[in-house]
Amino acid sequence: MKNFHDRGIIARYRQYLPVTDATPVVSLNEGSTPLIYSPRLSERVGRGCEIYIKYEGLNPTGSFKDRGMTMAISKAAEEGAKAVICASTGNTSAAAAAYAARAGVKCIVLLPAGKIAMGKLVQAFMYGAKVVAIDGNFDDALRLVREIGETEPISIVNSINPYRIDGQKTASFEIIEELGDAPEIHILPVGNAGNITAYWRGYVEFHAGNKSTKTPKMLGFQAAGSAPIFHNRIIDNPETVASAIRIGNPASWQLASNAIRESQGAIDIVTDIEILEAQRWLANHEGIFVEPASAASIAGLLKCVGEKTGAAFPAARFADGSKIVCTVTGHGLKDPDVAREQCGAIIPAKAEKDEILRHIA
Ligand SMILES: *Cc1c(COP(=O)(O)O)cnc(C)c1O
Repeated sequence: MKNFHDRGIIARYRQYLPVTDATPVVSLNEGSTPLIYSPRLSERVGRGCEIYIKYEGLNPTGSFKDRGMTMAISKAAEEGAKAVICASTGNTSAAAAAYAARAGVKCIVLLPAGKIAMGKLVQAFMYGAKVVAIDGNFDDALRLVREIGETEPISIVNSINPYRIDGQKTASFEIIEELGDAPEIHILPVGNAGNITAYWRGYVEFHAGNKSTKTPKMLGFQAAGSAPIFHNRIIDNPETVASAIRIGNPASWQLASNAIRESQGAIDIVTDIEILEAQRWLANHEGIFVEPASAASIAGLLKCVGEKTGAAFPAARFADGSKIVCTVTGHGLKDPDVAREQCGAIIPAKAEKDEILRHIA
């Protein structure tokens, strides 16, 4: 039997991860996602800057959460866990359910009722998780998961599980290997703030190991209605169309703030209108369909470039010829409802060539 396991992030970056020969690797060949050059974004930024998109929607369950989950579930399996639990805005639960299925352990997911994108919800069910929808928001779900983890023999696989961040830092390694060095600037959406923390850790580690000559400035973007780090206060009722970053009290708040400060980057906000515009723009102009939260990084870049946007990090501060990487975190098909609301009318027609030609003229 051929074992294709050697393609996942643990196999690729084993020496940088806390695994041993005793760790049963639970993998779905995550990682090694495309870094796509964007000619049109590069043109919009100008001054010789090169914009690249790290398309994390092409992971096995459609988001970057798989990088962290291969680590978290492998370690849970090593520790003999029979069940795992997570709170989720959707993608963590999809990843947890898939990797738990792969490992043969039970998975419980706690979701804010009515707030989960349809694609993500059906994933959790199809992968066989027990799905509990609580009458509360993500922050309530995470608090309950912490409480349950204290008394029950169930492993928590949220990003408060340190192995998640370890797995997620491998995205930075891939970028450095592909570009031959770290970029000048890295832009990403910020929700629970684990990912920006993970990328920074990856960049710092490879720099310390002389795999790159520099570290990038980290620019994080929150949705305007869910921007606790930007406003420096807990948001009790976070709101945004970008459900994956609808978080009012991020678990990795302090670590993310450190990453932003140490990298001399910035935290900023984008509105829902800007997010949805960026989502459509990216699909229309580069053929890359991402979920709304992911589009926050593109909306963020465009905010930096725009005039009079009051950007925290205006493009005037980009050095000429900068390489800029935007992570797009999840696949567009995750949230078909929000996408559908933005679509034009379908053209009904008889099955006749002439009529069709009339419609498309
Ligand atoms: C989880 C998630 C985010 C937010 O990442 P954090 O690590 O929570 O900041 C952004 N986009 C998508 C698609 C996600 O699934």
